[in-house]
Amino acid sequence: MSDLLARHRAVMPNWLSIYYDEPIEIVRGKGNRVVDAEGHTYLDFFAGILTNMIGYDVPEVREAVERQIATGVVHTSTVYLLRGQIELAEKIARLSGIENAKVFFTNSGTEANETALLLATYARRSDQVLAMRQSYHGRSFGALSVTSNRSWKNNSLSPLNVHFLHGADRHLPQFRGLSDAEYIEVCVEDLRHVLATAVSNDVAALIAEPIQGVGGFTMAPDGLFKAYKEVLDEEGILFISDEVQTGWGRTGSAFFGIQNHGMTPDMMTFAKGLGNGFAVGGVVARGDLMDGPHAIGLATFGGNPISMAAANATLDYVLDHDLQSRAAVTGKILIDGLREAKGRLPIVGDVRGKGLMFAVELVDPATGAPAPALAGRFMEETKKLGLLAGKGGLYGNALRMAPPLTLTEDEAREGLGIILSALETINEEAG
Ligand code: PLP
Repeated sequence: MSDLLARHRAVMPNWLSIYYDEPIEIVRGKGNRVVDAEGHTYLDFFAGILTNMIGYDVPEVREAVERQIATGVVHTSTVYLLRGQIELAEKIARLSGIENAKVFFTNSGTEANETALLLATYARRSDQVLAMRQSYHGRSFGALSVTSNRSWKNNSLSPLNVHFLHGADRHLPQFRGLSDAEYIEVCVEDLRHVLATAVSNDVAALIAEPIQGVGGFTMAPDGLFKAYKEVLDEEGILFISDEVQTGWGRTGSAFFGIQNHGMTPDMMTFAKGLGNGFAVGGVVARGDLMDGPHAIGLATFGGNPISMAAANATLDYVLDHDLQSRAAVTGKILIDGLREAKGRLPIVGDVRGKGLMFAVELVDPATGAPAPALAGRFMEETKKLGLLAGKGGLYGNALRMAPPLTLTEDEAREGLGIILSALETINEEAG
């Protein structure tokens, strides 16, 4: 046990609330690897929680932050003009594809979603919102109310009136055997039914993750959200794409996850990897929505100069090195390799993903039921072999992997070898 873990456990209850029972202490990082306090090196296949987009100790990011610190202006407030904010907003507005786009910066994904919901409910003068089953949007009351994942729900208090839609739940018995087109048709029919029967007046917006992160990297078939948008447009209902996990080329096939569906939303929210570890989040939205009187004002630390320096350097790096294309290549190596394992290892129930955002679902080989205990074993086993992964999903049995976009092809093959070896060991134990 490391000194720090011993100190954390020395008092009951511990001073600090931490997610894992046996967290490691990461003390250094270089490239796509991190080192713990006991000197073990790991390939980071969860990138923090997708917070590290371009690897560790990147000179371009470090130097940009150091240059900002050297000015003496660490933060004054966001009421003054900040060069880093303007530069980053210009880039994001342009990349978003949203017409007359404007950007508002926050410190986290939760705040970004809270802001987007505030803008939508203000613009439409309605507290009714649509969200997706199995979704996760953050830990504030607004974000929690559009979250549909019992493990994260905590309470039923809600400032919004929310209806949850199908779209990322093809595993449900009623949808089995449907083609993509048939599933989309059923979902659209259900959306029309909700709008016709379940809501009392105008609906403000639909908020959706293009690939559900905490939900276990579950995906709606490409095209579903375009079909939804066409229905929503008939009534002027806004579409908010939560790109907190899927933005900036992560899916390989599109720069923002929603573009896989062939459409442009009215708003996008973002956070996590943009600052490569520095806290930054935000909303990019149509200007007319952003300019709603008093709808938004100020976030004291949102868009602070240090985060802006890191985010500008990170986004430039992603674009200059075309990391989106690299994610498509490395992601294919990994997803193809894992799909091959699905055929021969009965514990592998499903393999899914796009680019460098992919998941393996572990099941009981005898019954096919979700097997969260096996996911725990996988985490132990890969840690032993030198790779960090994440787990989650509705039933706790989805292994979630999303390495930095800078992952090389050699590292992708090395990681695949470790994952397969861990799966083989667990398959043998379970059989
Ligand atoms: N939206 C999505 C899709 C997320 O995955 C998360 C965090 O995991 C959030 C929002 C909340 O972001 P944060 O933890 O930065 O508040």
